[in-house]
Amino acid sequence: MANVTRTILTVFAALVLMLSGCKKTVEGEQQRWDANVGEVRGQMAKYPGLKPALEARLARAQAIYDAAGSLGDEAKIAKLAEANGVIAKDFVTDLRGLEDKLKKLRESRVEAAAKAGDESSRLGAKVAAEDAAATIARVEATLATGAADEAGAAAVLEKINGDIATAQAAVDKVLAADRDKKDDAKAKADADAKAKADADAKVAPWKCTYCGAENTHEHGACASCGAPRGDAKADAKAK
Ligand SMILES: [Zn+2]
Repeated sequence: MANVTRTILTVFAALVLMLSGCKKTVEGEQQRWDANVGEVRGQMAKYPGLKPALEARLARAQAIYDAAGSLGDEAKIAKLAEANGVIAKDFVTDLRGLEDKLKKLRESRVEAAAKAGDESSRLGAKVAAEDAAATIARVEATLATGAADEAGAAAVLEKINGDIATAQAAVDKVLAADRDKKDDAKAKADADAKAKADADAKVAPWKCTYCGAENTHEHGACASCGAPRGDAKADAKAK
């Protein structure tokens, strides 16, 4: 029972923390700072070419962070928020989504390369897939070369993001066109099947509703009893 009470209290405390999260606190800014520093250090390990720029960024933000130490609560919160704003922007935040974007482009490239639509869509898919592959290679090379300073890194990431977006759009376009073509082909197959069923119905034999005799399609009236094809109801419907 004590465990249940504790669990409820913990959940309640978490909710209160979440709800009060919109208001900036020293603790909140401190946590953001720790997370941001951890992220930048992770980026240094992952992108050695960008290490000088990341180090410069960290040092610049760290100086602001250090200046917060001696301040009162209100001013401290503002200073810590400023440090967080300086460390986490442009190339640092751009690097966050980079792996996911590259992953998506790689997957789309594979999908486009595997497209086996008609000859024209296959060629378009091939071109887009090759462009995507070239873009991925170029992005990786650019990242490896990196940048010497913050401004350089910001420019590099802006370029990379633009290149990825362009290649992704080209591949998406090809994949969408391929889907449209498949839809069109299916619609045509459905229409053909219906036309064939209609044609078959026209030459199908019919059974007289009066005497039950089978008549071939060219008979407008029953060959056996002379009754007209179809009953009064069906005739009315046909008119
Ligand atoms: Zn008949």
